[in-house]
Formats: sequence, structure tokens, C-alpha cells
Amino acid sequence: MTASGYRGRFAPSPTGPLHFGSLVTAVASYLEAHSRNGEWLVRIEDLDPLRESPEAADQILHSLTRHELHWHGDVRYQSTRLDGYRQLANQLVERGRAYYCGCSRKELKASDGHHPYHCRTGGPLPPDRPLAIRFTLNNENAHWYDRILGAQHQSVRAEVDDPVIIRKEGFVAYQLAVVVDDIDQGITDVVRGSDLLETTAQQRQICQALNGTSPDWAHIPVVLNRQGQKLSKQNHAPALDDTRPGRNLWHALSTLGQHPPQTLQNDTPERILGWALAHWSLDHIPLQHTREP
Ligand code: GLU
Repeated sequence: MTASGYRGRFAPSPTGPLHFGSLVTAVASYLEAHSRNGEWLVRIEDLDPLRESPEAADQILHSLTRHELHWHGDVRYQSTRLDGYRQLANQLVERGRAYYCGCSRKELKASDGHHPYHCRTGGPLPPDRPLAIRFTLNNENAHWYDRILGAQHQSVRAEVDDPVIIRKEGFVAYQLAVVVDDIDQGITDVVRGSDLLETTAQQRQICQALNGTSPDWAHIPVVLNRQGQKLSKQNHAPALDDTRPGRNLWHALSTLGQHPPQTLQNDTPERILGWALAHWSLDHIPLQHTREP
């Protein structure tokens, strides 16, 4: 840990190569960490073999390196930590903060999110069905401050919103692993896309149940494609052209409202990042969704 104590991270799920939207997130979290004299970690959230491609993690790391976004220490791969997440999920069950659930999505929908088998309150589990583990949320009017979006408020509904933490297929869910690792890695500040804003209040409760301290949050408005959809692999966002890192960084900084000078457009990644660090401000990030260049 540096003297400032700040520790941030970029935590991509390796469902495909880095695209422009994920570069924007990486650049913002990198610059915020460096401008606060902190550390910037990279964590590969490879929990879902059905959605991941085997080469994606290496492609992402290669792209980050090409853009001179160098991380602190070793990359953490969540796939190497599955036993630990499962143990913590079991401990939450033992402590009454999580429960086995066999309800199907259809059944939950038909009963407005309430669990027809009363699994949450110890009802008999349906036989011969795969079981998920869900976290037991408390009803809450959650309030916190987002360093980009300002004061936040979310209503958390116990039972109806209870997130899956171990999936029926046995996979560890993102909601558990992200919190476990943010605590374990001493992450003080999360800078990430605003598509994850709606999970924040739940993650704060999971963090509390695991006796962790919630990080500070900064959510960046997501980048939309020309059709107005979020840039993502599902929407066929093209992979970044790693042969033009300077140009990509320049556009990422523009998208983040930092107004890099035109003269930097064809400069090297080092010089662009040097300029960016000297001028970086979270206050300049636009609050609305932005369009890809
Ligand atoms: N792995 C998540 C994703 O790629 C991001 C996790 C986070 O930043 O909290 O969408």
C-alpha cells in the first residue's frame, strides 16, 4: 500500500477483448488511482466459463500493456479462488445471512419475487432440483455518496432482491466474488461503469455481512454505440485496435470530458497519459451517457 493508502482496481470479466467502453473505465480508474498517489490493481473476474473465451484474459492484458496502463503487483484471477468464495458462502448460510434456494425464475416471477417454497425462512427445499445460494438482504433505504454522480439513494427489498451468490450450476456469482476480493485486496476506491450502479447497495450489504469496509464509489456514465446501446460484447462492440493506442487513449480522455489538446492525438501513450495525469479531474466527467467516437 502506498503512503496515500488509496488502492483502486480494474476488474474486467473476460467475455471478449477490451473494447472502447472498457478502455474508458480502465483509463478512469487508472488515472484516479495515480492522481491520488495510489495503487492500481487488475483483477480478472473469470467466474463464468460459459460466457468467457479462453483467450480473452490474455487479450485484455495485452491491450492494457499496449496502452501503457501498467498495473501494480500480480494480476488476480478469480478462477483460482473458488474454494474460498464457496467457504464464505457456506459461512453466510451458517450465520443466517444466506440460504439455499430451489425456486425457478418463472416461479419467482409468478409470485412477485417472493419465494414460493419459503426457502428463505427454512421451508422444505424442493426435492431433485439444483439449488442456488442467495444472500439474505435486509430492507433498507440505502444512502451513499458517489464521487461522480453525487448523492445516491436505493431502496433494497429483502427477499425480492436477494441476489444469487452461488449459482445453481455451482458457479460462484459475481456479486459475492467482487465483494470478497475488494475486501481481501484492501480496495479503498471503486471506479467503474454506471451499469453496475444498481448492484451497489446490495454489495454494500454483502460487504457489511463479511465484516468489510465498503470502498468509496465513482460510477462513470456508460458509453453508448451509435444505436444508443451500451458498448458491450453482447452488442458486438468491436475490439480495440491495439496498433493505435495513442488515438484510443485520446478518444477515451475526450469521452471522459478531459479535453485533451488536438496536438496530442497522434502522440505516444506515455505522453498522452502524462498529460492526462497532470490535468485529470473526476469533476469533468459528463454525467450523461456518452457516445462512442
Ligand atoms: N467484472 C465486472 C464487469 O466486467 C466489473 C466488476 C466491478 O467493477 O465491480 O462488468
